[in-house]
Amino acid sequence: MNTDGPLLRVENIKKYFSSRKQFLGSAPKTVKAVDDVSFELFRGETLGVVGESGCGKSTLGRAILRLHEPDSGRIVYDGTDLLSLNKSEMRDYRQRMQIIFQDPYASLNPRMTVKELICASLDVFGIGTKAERIDMVLDIMEKVGLPLEYLNRYPHEFSGGQRQRIMIARALVLNPDFVIGDEPVSALDVSVRAQVLNLMKDLQQELSLTYLFISHDLSVVRYLCDRVMVMYLGKVMEIAARDELYSDAKHPYTQALLSSIPIPDVDAAKRRIRLSGDVPSPFNPPSGCRFHTRCVNARPECSQSEPELKDMGNGHMAACHFCDH
Ligand code: SF4
Repeated sequence: MNTDGPLLRVENIKKYFSSRKQFLGSAPKTVKAVDDVSFELFRGETLGVVGESGCGKSTLGRAILRLHEPDSGRIVYDGTDLLSLNKSEMRDYRQRMQIIFQDPYASLNPRMTVKELICASLDVFGIGTKAERIDMVLDIMEKVGLPLEYLNRYPHEFSGGQRQRIMIARALVLNPDFVIGDEPVSALDVSVRAQVLNLMKDLQQELSLTYLFISHDLSVVRYLCDRVMVMYLGKVMEIAARDELYSDAKHPYTQALLSSIPIPDVDAAKRRIRLSGDVPSPFNPPSGCRFHTRCVNARPECSQSEPELKDMGNGHMAACHFCDH
């Protein structure tokens, strides 16, 4: 393993989807789900990716793992460009790079026991003998806080929080160094959410994990992440260290998102920046700055030219023509 530099460097990744159905012979439309996204992720850190639904954050996660094959760009993982690898070369990296999805119930085969579900990950990669696999399953169940006597139970016999622990166990039994959490606590009750977040934090320390944590919930991201990247309509709007972003957001979109976090403070409610309207159609994103149709600071030139992601110092970057004023 190369310990110099970032564990993951994403360079100018693009992932576009074309609509297949053509109405009355009209040309297929293209969604630029991820459009020229670049960032770095350092070993042992947690980078949060936030934004409203449809901003491209989940597509980005899948593109990094090549579950959606990127159209262009580079994904340099531990010194290797993943997009240059063929299927069998990619296999080793698949083991090292895991993903935990939002809905554990949909992701768990209801006819398999916990033992079978976790063992299935090991089977795929041909890891260990039958006896060794059982030891690994028991070990990871203990680590994620699943009682060992539940080994032969089925998913429907577990609570939502426990099912998410099974999902975490399935990912971590492969001993990865990088884990993408795609809204991993969004489907959970608030009380259970905190337990699973704490578990993820503890496991990160214990197993030296690096996380990319995708979420629409800014409170959750604040709790777990070291740095935060804000996306809007497939583009990065801002990246900064967590405390800096939450105390000194530069981009009007980030400011609006942060002001909408519910807190029991009447004055804060009055200061709330309301985002008008819905996110524009990704089939036809606004010209220039993609946020200009909803931005309270928009000026005529914002619809003419697209702002670059500028470094405002300290690794704090924002894509706005006027946010350094
Ligand atoms: Fe708003 Fe203009 Fe900045 Fe875009 S470039 S965020 S529209 S002020």
